[in-house]
Amino acid sequence: MSDSDTRDRSEALRTPIVAVLGHVDHGKTSLLDKIRGSAVSEGEAGAITQHIGATAVPLDTISGIAGSLVDPDDFDLPGLLFIDTPGHHSFSTLRSRGGALADIAVLVVDVNDGFQPQTEEAIDILKRTGTPFIVAANKIDTTPGWNPQEGEPIQATYEAQSDRARSRLDENLYEIIGQLSDSGFSADLYWRVQDFQANVGVVPVSAVTGEGVPDLLTVLMGLSQRYMKDQMAIDVEGPGAGTVLEVKEEKGFGTTLDVVMYDGTVREGDEIVVGGMQEPIVTEVRALLQPKPLAEIRTEKRFDRVDSVAAAAGVKIAAPDLADAMAGAPVRVIRDRDREAVIADVESELAEIQVDTEEEG
Ligand code: GDP
Repeated sequence: MSDSDTRDRSEALRTPIVAVLGHVDHGKTSLLDKIRGSAVSEGEAGAITQHIGATAVPLDTISGIAGSLVDPDDFDLPGLLFIDTPGHHSFSTLRSRGGALADIAVLVVDVNDGFQPQTEEAIDILKRTGTPFIVAANKIDTTPGWNPQEGEPIQATYEAQSDRARSRLDENLYEIIGQLSDSGFSADLYWRVQDFQANVGVVPVSAVTGEGVPDLLTVLMGLSQRYMKDQMAIDVEGPGAGTVLEVKEEKGFGTTLDVVMYDGTVREGDEIVVGGMQEPIVTEVRALLQPKPLAEIRTEKRFDRVDSVAAAAGVKIAAPDLADAMAGAPVRVIRDRDREAVIADVESELAEIQVDTEEEG
């Protein structure tokens, strides 16, 4: 089938998928929590949407957090979708069509600790998968003599510091820039970077005070818009494609898949192919589930049933015969395509994942 048959039907720009990596205790979880918290305290209804395994932060909310740094009129990507499970183990198992599931990554580095073994490992994985990334130089609030500026952009924060505190932070930041360079990446403080394809931007942040978080979101949004827009153009109503985050037993639903969809749409009743331990599983979607909004969490049902889900999004898929499904495996909707071809596709992707896992093991 030629591409032009489907191209015009329902083309849209999807949300870029963001992963957070870094050494243990450098602040990955705290940073994700802070982003979610800042988004919620922006106050508007729909400031964020909790997906299965992911959090969507819409452009308007980013613009609210980033203040003067982001003019929403400069962007046409809908926002950012953060994968909730931080760490490079999950990152390296999460693939999409041979590449990384994440379109872009945040490498969190403790500004006092600098590069640590898992930072190096994360860098290796980012290199191997060719994933663009920025560095969040975290815990700037622990700089001796720091004068915290809750939630402020980094420039305002810098201006509020004593010369002494500022130069101590700068020393640490340049240490990290040097370590990036030792790893083969030309890097600089993000506001000095002209070409983000040639240079890694370093964003000073604090996951505790939120300083620099406006900058971090701005840079992620700007990078995606500038360099990934073409990649984000999908046929939203086309047959869905996604990656399994987790295989889970769910009361009333049996074995379910937590999936991040990166292309097309999945609908209730769709026939899907899922990577399995022995062979691809062909099954039919019984239910698509999303978390209930926080306000309703006290009701006994934890999920809302939806008819369909379009990329990019996290969703729980309930279907028969999922016991052999694997985390990291591809999920494909068959729809009007040849079933054997889709199975073959899933098989070859699975073979690739297995080669990779053996290399790492
Ligand atoms: P992870 O293992 O990378 O997910 O790290 P966590 O988010 O669990 O953070 C490890 C510890 O560092 C926790 O005690 C956090 O409260 C603390 N922490 C994380 N970010 C910051 C920060 O920006 N400033 C300060 N002062 N502490 C932080």
